[in-house]
Amino acid sequence: MRLAAVPSSIPAGEVRPPSKDETRRNCGGETMGTTWRVDLHSSRMESVGEVRHTVAEVLERLVGQMSHYRPDSDLGRFNRARGAQWVNLPVEMFHVLDTALSVALETEGAFDPTLGHLVNSWGFGPNGPTGTPPDAQAVLDGLFRRGWSRLLLDPARGRAWQPGGVSVDFSSIAKGFAVDQVARVLDDFGIANFLVEIGGELRSRGVKSGGHPWWVAIEQPPDCEGFPEVVVALCGQAVATSGDYRRYFMHDGVRYSHTIDPRTGKPVRGDLASVTVIHDQCILADAYSTALLVLGEAAGHLFAEKRQLPALFIARDGNGFRHSCTRAFQDMLD
Ligand code: AMP
Ligand code: MG
Repeated sequence: MRLAAVPSSIPAGEVRPPSKDETRRNCGGETMGTTWRVDLHSSRMESVGEVRHTVAEVLERLVGQMSHYRPDSDLGRFNRARGAQWVNLPVEMFHVLDTALSVALETEGAFDPTLGHLVNSWGFGPNGPTGTPPDAQAVLDGLFRRGWSRLLLDPARGRAWQPGGVSVDFSSIAKGFAVDQVARVLDDFGIANFLVEIGGELRSRGVKSGGHPWWVAIEQPPDCEGFPEVVVALCGQAVATSGDYRRYFMHDGVRYSHTIDPRTGKPVRGDLASVTVIHDQCILADAYSTALLVLGEAAGHLFAEKRQLPALFIARDGNGFRHSCTRAFQDMLD
């Protein structure tokens, strides 16, 4: 079975379908430990080469700023700053931190960009996999060292306050931001019809030839056979999915996934296997999908309904799965 989700309205001026001389082309590469891909309609073969080059440059710049894995990144510099001090940040990183702190505030800390030490202790950070849960002391230590509310921003001077020892991790938001930045590059090239994807997070503009929407299949947990495939007509919007199957380890029959509940310092428990969010901005689709996975089914639904967010929840149910969605998502299915 297949369910199709279509936006109830398309922003005015959004769509200029590809003309006959515009051919569908694509380019891609590797970034952020995953892959990127752009599908676009263009009349000029050369423009794809230029697009590939510019996108690769932009992504390299973002990785140089925000990679948790590169000690020489601006993020590495922020995390290593000795003692309490202001740290100057590049404009894009400042924006990502600002957005991450807003989502942390909005979700009462369920989304927390300062879990770097905990993420590492659980084997999902730059120190590499451990395969076993950390001891209680390491969890306590990570809980003590997190603290999004202790970071401060100084927009006038483009700097952030490092209270000392806080480890920022942008893995739950940087891909979404990068998708938005790539979409901006394509806008600047004057490309009216495209689909951008980085590691499963997507954003589109316009339509494909013949006026057909960019249909994208929503990522589902593996072993979901027999479960309805959900496809979305992305029209100027972004979609992001967070799942407990993306990175995890099994220990004594328990699944430990890379999404950490900041209240316990441990991987989230509960039935949710994945959450997908649709939003105009991929940075927010990415942050919210992580946040809803932490909040869990009941609180996640409440949060998303209150903000009229289209969101799809897939939960484990015995040996199978069940799904539920918000009213805004249901409206797209009807
Ligand atoms: P995503 O796949 O976008 O849901 O991001 C998951 C990644 O975000 C994990 O690998 C961690 O690096 C980081 N992370 C884990 N828990 C949280 C959380 N509660 N809030 C923000 N980021 C988190
Ligand atoms: Mg995310």
